[in-house]
Amino acid sequence: MSSSFKTTCCYCGVGCGVIVHKERNGSLRVEGDKDHPVNKGLLCSKGMNLHYTVMNTTDRLLYPEMRYSKTMQRQRVSWNVALQRTAAVFKTFIQKYGPDSVAFYASGQCLTEEYYVVNKLIKGFIGSNNIDTNSRLCMSSAVTAYKMSLGDDSVPVCYDDIELADCLFVAGANPAWCHPIIWRRVEAARASNPDLKIIVSDPRNTQTCAYANVHLQLKPGTDVVLHHAIGRLLLEEGAIDIHFIKNHTEGFERYKQKVMQRTVAEAAAICDVPEEKLREAAGYIARSKGFITMWTMGLNQSVIGVNKNLSLINLNLITGHIGKPGSGPFSLTGQPNAMGGREVGGMATMLSAHRNLASEADRTFMQQFWGGTTINSNPGLTATEMFDALNDGRLKAIWIMGSNPLVSLPDVHKVEAGLKRAKFVVVQEVSNKPETLQYADVVLPAAAWAEKEGTMTNAERRITYLYKMVDAPGEALPDAEIICRFAKAMGYHGFDYNSFAEIYDEHCRATKGTNIDISGLSYEILKDARSIQYPYKENGKETPRLFTNKQFYTPSKKAIIHAVDDENESEPTTADLPLILTTGRIRDQWHTMTKTGKVSKLKKHIAQSFLEIHPDDAAERGIAENDLVEISNNRGQVRVKAKLTPDIKSGVVFLPMHWGKILNSDLNRANNLTNNLLDSKSKQPDFKYAAVAVKLY
Ligand code: SF4
Repeated sequence: MSSSFKTTCCYCGVGCGVIVHKERNGSLRVEGDKDHPVNKGLLCSKGMNLHYTVMNTTDRLLYPEMRYSKTMQRQRVSWNVALQRTAAVFKTFIQKYGPDSVAFYASGQCLTEEYYVVNKLIKGFIGSNNIDTNSRLCMSSAVTAYKMSLGDDSVPVCYDDIELADCLFVAGANPAWCHPIIWRRVEAARASNPDLKIIVSDPRNTQTCAYANVHLQLKPGTDVVLHHAIGRLLLEEGAIDIHFIKNHTEGFERYKQKVMQRTVAEAAAICDVPEEKLREAAGYIARSKGFITMWTMGLNQSVIGVNKNLSLINLNLITGHIGKPGSGPFSLTGQPNAMGGREVGGMATMLSAHRNLASEADRTFMQQFWGGTTINSNPGLTATEMFDALNDGRLKAIWIMGSNPLVSLPDVHKVEAGLKRAKFVVVQEVSNKPETLQYADVVLPAAAWAEKEGTMTNAERRITYLYKMVDAPGEALPDAEIICRFAKAMGYHGFDYNSFAEIYDEHCRATKGTNIDISGLSYEILKDARSIQYPYKENGKETPRLFTNKQFYTPSKKAIIHAVDDENESEPTTADLPLILTTGRIRDQWHTMTKTGKVSKLKKHIAQSFLEIHPDDAAERGIAENDLVEISNNRGQVRVKAKLTPDIKSGVVFLPMHWGKILNSDLNRANNLTNNLLDSKSKQPDFKYAAVAVKLY
């Protein structure tokens, strides 16, 4: 019998509704859900080909594997043997070196229930905060900035605000390629309101810029200077909301002094943007009635990522464009469930339900709630710090869940050295492709999207229930079940769940009384409603936008305007390394291509890695279109073909981040070149700025 399921696309944080049709022969077909509030039936190229990711199982891990020593080949073993042995090794390390000798590195692809149990396991029972996820690479600067300015990690806006705004400032993002369905909504909004003004800041002239009224093609690393210059112009034009500033914010006077320190002309010179374009952008914001700032990795993936975020959020705060329809600061999440991971506190610096790891009361609450061990007050190792700790021997064992750090982490040779030095590596994974598998002592096959149930939260705080539609191949199990079986093998109580609904309900109970309260929101309500935006009120009401009462989550209930420094702290270019490398995504690929790489239709758009370089920089080096070039610095090399385009700023080059090893060559891997610098507050790496040399190969 054929059947249909209403579920959510598992690729990105947009969270589009899809209907999956399961035919009598077991094959799947996907269509956009016309009734879904996010995408209204539309899907991007990745979403349209979603079903291939589960129907093609040729690349799947099917059985647990294990080896007893580094010199042995892994052998297929039973789940019981794999988990008992892993538990024995973890117990030995914990006894001998303490709880901080082990770590879990998870993924924004995990469902909320999966995040919840692994976070509970390590923080509540093992007694370490060594859990981080690849979401650290994606939005931790936005999380920190939201907390600092609004009092909690809180996205105030919703997608419906796009149609209500008359000015959008897209900063360091290319949603036309990376959040395509959001961009379709922007295009539709422009079609019905030609007065909608769009400002884009980006060193590259991307597809998003095609819709911009003004493109601020700034020099990488100068975003804070640019945001401050716009702030200054708004002040000078009297286009600020004095009543809102006075009654609902703190810190304005310091901010005013800060932005007045540079003239607009000086700022324009630093950013290498024409002054009149800054004035044009400020004019659009000044005249708007609804103003949304939108950003992603161009701001977040920076050594000053938090400052970039804060200086952008300030533009909403000084104009009072927050907490009302069509206005607010909107961090566009990259991964499908980075938000869900944040809700359960599944990172090294957080506690469940947005509770504060630094607060003794919050730690005590969670310890009593879980009934486990004392929760450590020290933040755990973050994503890149885990691999530093493997290198220097502090960390003995790492458990990698659904992530591919040998492609996705910066300065990846250092990551590889860490995995070589690790005493014990567990890889829990869907695909047999990740490079990490070569270092695994234990491999645990995981179920994929459509093969398990659970929940995810998209970028606008919308929680959706995902159905299990097909059985996982071989002996693959849902991630949450693997973690619970392991916890029981460790001898911990509190992991005897009879269903995923029980895990979800426990998480919901932990949110009671917090800013993300979903304590009354069951699987049944979610299935009926299709999706709900939190906080969820007991009267059955969701919350499309936050702060409509102008009461923020800070102790004073006022939003904080931070007067941040505008200096960039990235590694400087030199005579030998004169170009700035920036990295990013292409339209039809996702992350390290373990899913999209197996869909042949998606390779048609761009089949190979490439270096985008300005014709002037190319001419200086004797490089022509399609020439093989070498990009290098003291961390490594990449060799790809050159793509000459005036769309990239002179002095800047771009590599896509998706490619790893091909036929044992790692010369397509952009992260051979990226650096180890982290934002001091968010610990997010500086992916968008590495000093490199480029030459004809
Ligand atoms: Fe899936 Fe994101 Fe595309 Fe929507 S925009 S279909 S969620 S990949």
